[in-house]
Amino acid sequence: MGVNDFKIIVKKENILHNYHYLQKLKNKRIIAVVKANAYGHGIENVVKLLKREGCEYFAVAREYEAKKILNLKLKNIRILILETIENLELLKENPNLEMVVNSLDDLKNILSKDVLSEQLHLKIDFGFGRNGIFEKDIDDLEKILKEKNLKFKGILTHLFAADYEDMIEIEKKFELIVKRLGKERFEIIHTQNSAGIISIEGKDTTHIRCGTLLFGLQEIGYYDPKIKRAFKLSGKILGIKDLKDLKYIGYEKKELINLEKNTKIAKIRIGYGDGFSKRSENIMSIINNKKFKVVHISMDSSFVAVDDSVKIGDEIEIFHDLQESINHLGVPHYEFLSVLNERIEREYI
Ligand SMILES: *Cc1c(COP(=O)(O)O)cnc(C)c1O
Repeated sequence: MGVNDFKIIVKKENILHNYHYLQKLKNKRIIAVVKANAYGHGIENVVKLLKREGCEYFAVAREYEAKKILNLKLKNIRILILETIENLELLKENPNLEMVVNSLDDLKNILSKDVLSEQLHLKIDFGFGRNGIFEKDIDDLEKILKEKNLKFKGILTHLFAADYEDMIEIEKKFELIVKRLGKERFEIIHTQNSAGIISIEGKDTTHIRCGTLLFGLQEIGYYDPKIKRAFKLSGKILGIKDLKDLKYIGYEKKELINLEKNTKIAKIRIGYGDGFSKRSENIMSIINNKKFKVVHISMDSSFVAVDDSVKIGDEIEIFHDLQESINHLGVPHYEFLSVLNERIEREYI
């Protein structure tokens, strides 16, 4: 990589701190959710890091992501795919791979293809409409389970960022369903994602499934001050030009860009080709503890309106203030971090 490229600096100790902190806090085992390239932190390195620390359970959303972990050839780990995949052979070939079953039809189909139920987790849906077996199908589900005397690896539901009352209600309903289906049929029980970890007890569950909290990416309303953020996106100022010498900034006529009182334009090496979306235009960056606006984003580089205090080679940080970035972009932090692609190197310190 060039010296002026942007990189995501990942603080390993903060991920490990969060891991141990959450495990102690809930006194449950952790399924580390590392989908979307570990929320942008780099799936392979994060898995290896957590495995060294004793984590043996990882969850992803895609076959592609499961294969990335399988290719690391780590011993004694389990990989759970949260979506239902078509390639059932992959499950048969890899006994340490598990999959969530997201509907009754999927269950029937998967069992008919001779996949071991011990590699499956049943997901119960309570109206988020995303994934899962509906409550109305529970009677049929119970019948199948009892007829075939099936035992599964796990059962789960998803406590998405619903409000507190909803979460409590879902927790109760889920508990009743597990009882009805037979608790002894499930080796593990898990309901809580990050929001659920902060908000509810997780009665009778054995594991927590955490993604964002592990990386210190917190949501408003579900905030724990002991959790530490792990990433920093930073680069160097590549070049500086005086505004009066320019007609265009990037492809934009300079009159069309709001530069406020700044007289200079600094170039940086990050653009939408790296996953730094054009929507981030006008976001604030930090250079030498001062805020400056990113006024234009192109494929390979972007431009920041700066003043005389900024010099070539100075460090610039983007997404420094997560809440400000969330407000500016109108999307959650999971999105803008996880879309930064492999053109941005991850450096682990
Ligand atoms: C993504 C996901 C998680 C992790 O959610 P966070 O809010 O990042 O902790 C947990 N469970 C399921 C089913 C998921 O899809």
